Amino acid sequence: MTKTKLLLLGTGTPNACPENSGPASAIIVNDQAYLIDFGPGVVRQASKAYFKGIDALRPDRLNIAFCTHLHTDHTVGLADLIFTPWVLEREKPLQLYGPQGLKDMAKDITHAYVKDLDMRLRGDEPANPTGYKTEVHELDAGTKDYGIIYKDNNVQVNAFTVNHGRLQSLAYKFITEDKTIVVSGDTCPVEIMKEKARDADILLHECEYTKGLETRSEQWQIYHRNVHTLSVDLAKLAIVAKPKLLVTYHRIYHMNVFDRSFDLKQEMEIRKQAILEEIKDAGYNGKVINGEDLDIFE
Ligand SMILES: [Zn+2]
Ligand SMILES: [Zn+2]
Repeated sequence: MTKTKLLLLGTGTPNACPENSGPASAIIVNDQAYLIDFGPGVVRQASKAYFKGIDALRPDRLNIAFCTHLHTDHTVGLADLIFTPWVLEREKPLQLYGPQGLKDMAKDITHAYVKDLDMRLRGDEPANPTGYKTEVHELDAGTKDYGIIYKDNNVQVNAFTVNHGRLQSLAYKFITEDKTIVVSGDTCPVEIMKEKARDADILLHECEYTKGLETRSEQWQIYHRNVHTLSVDLAKLAIVAKPKLLVTYHRIYHMNVFDRSFDLKQEMEIRKQAILEEIKDAGYNGKVINGEDLDIFE
């Protein structure tokens, strides 16, 4: 048995930051990867991880993914995930789990590529007839806790509902032989997270820079408080849940990331440090790390 790993493929947000690929994570157990979300760049990031020595992330081996919600930043890599591994000779259909609407999204994306599909399946390029297919398992809206929605010899996956505004949004808890890992997706602070992340080995949770939000207009502040989690509130949640390791991702800094008049990397670094301080100042003294693209936790 190999140790379960959490690998962050992309830790970004809708902002096209050069340093952060779109939201996507992978849990790797016994040489099989289970993806959570497929933001922009997902397959290229998997390829980078493969070249770092993670065999399970070789692009043609990506065949199962769990979607937290249908926002573009978490899903625009779906076309990539459906087609790139297939063109690289994946034969297995892609298994997808997620909210209602995912089935239509997969179907419509597949339809959008009908000309390419036709050429590959019926033209001169030999391609297998199965690897571009998707098998989508939708979770009905309105259920608080779905229980175990997926199970194999490596992992049991529990999906539960979080609160990210009107869009159906899910978080996932992965239980393996040696680890429990909870991935928040996008959400404001929710009670169920405290219960699900209790004593987890890793809680990967979205996070907003609290001080940064104060610079925004009142309307934006209300919106962000309703659909995302401020660092100070993440601290309160973690104080109760007591994960062995808290990892932040999908960090919202509230800054203009396309202002070239300052050093973006340096400015982000300052805000990252500030987020960690906000979490500590709010009373959380457990282990907390800002996750970065291609970080591995095991
Ligand atoms: Zn997002
Ligand atoms: Zn979102």
